[in-house]
Amino acid sequence: MAIYSHSQLSMYEQCPLKYRLCYRDKIKRDVEGVEAFLGTMVHETLKKCYDDVRLTKLNTLGDLLAYYDSIWQQNWHDLIVITKKDLTQEHYQALGKKLIETYYQRYAPFDSDMTIGTEMRLNFTIDDENKYRMMGFIDRLSRTSDDIYQIRDYKTSAQLPSQEDIDGDRQLGLYQIGIQKRWPDIKNIGLVWHYLAFDRELVSSRSDEAISKLVIETTRLIDEIDSATDFPPKESGLCDWCEYPDLCPMRKHFYTVEALPVNEYLSEPGVVLVNRYAELREKASEIEDELGKVKEAILDYARREQVEVIKGSDRKARVRFDKKLKFPGKSEKERQELDETIVQAGRWGQVSQLDTTALTRIVEEGLWERSLIDEVLKYGRIEESSSIYLSKLKDEEK
Ligand code: SF4
Repeated sequence: MAIYSHSQLSMYEQCPLKYRLCYRDKIKRDVEGVEAFLGTMVHETLKKCYDDVRLTKLNTLGDLLAYYDSIWQQNWHDLIVITKKDLTQEHYQALGKKLIETYYQRYAPFDSDMTIGTEMRLNFTIDDENKYRMMGFIDRLSRTSDDIYQIRDYKTSAQLPSQEDIDGDRQLGLYQIGIQKRWPDIKNIGLVWHYLAFDRELVSSRSDEAISKLVIETTRLIDEIDSATDFPPKESGLCDWCEYPDLCPMRKHFYTVEALPVNEYLSEPGVVLVNRYAELREKASEIEDELGKVKEAILDYARREQVEVIKGSDRKARVRFDKKLKFPGKSEKERQELDETIVQAGRWGQVSQLDTTALTRIVEEGLWERSLIDEVLKYGRIEESSSIYLSKLKDEEK
């Protein structure tokens, strides 16, 4: 079985297609988002800070910022993407400096605990049979004077998660398993996230039960990935940072037409078709609105004039006012009582019929035993269907 990392698992959850392109097809891309680059530079700088402290050298804040500037310059490359149009490389470089400065002012002289390792590589299995293998890097592992080990993670993101989010975080929970496999005598482990932009430490821990649950969920996810044959694209806010827009059916057309000059763009067949479709849909909805209003007016007219047939120039309209018996719909509250009344009377079979939408969902999600699913599948068939949804482009997509 392959070795997985937390980021691999997250990528599969985020978008199975991106996962396939990156990890199965191994298509390498040199582009990277500026946020990821900034994160790497800040991590490198804090690693140096603690590595030097272990060698008895305390850097001044100026030393560390100079180091940060120098690695920033050395590593910056033309394929770093800045998605936010009003920001420049300088803004991000300055942001990284601010994060380091905040951290430095809070923790210098960095002697409140002992550093066991920085950027510490872990290779471990999460199950007793040693079947599910994982790897990862701990930003810093420390030990306090009262023998508490702390798995620390630096975060440069602009969002501060809730306590509930970090109590359910998979990454550091998995690292706790890795540390306890490496040193089984370690009993007391804390998980600490440094949200540098907020000058906040978020702290959590994992009970034995939480670790068991994590192992079950993670092995299930690994099984799902291992046996996956279908890797559908899953659009989200993270698509703007995706390295594979040219290979993704959700983004390929954007990617292709973005490079065209305006005159070619407007005559590109896909652009022409969508523009025409949108125009017709708009007209259709105007007509639908008007049709509804005229229909109401005809009904009013018929009521007022007490007529059932109204003559036009070359058509006539027949109007019918019917009274129909109606029962509560599925979402109405009396519906359940009605259902129960009929079930109790033993007449359910006469008025119910198979809900094929529910059946499709049950089969697709494998909610019944396999033998029954196989049996009902004999009556199912795959039919191709198509639909078109129109929506407005977001500002960043224009
Ligand atoms: S652009 Fe979005 S949907 Fe397409 S592969 Fe990338 S993350 Fe997935």
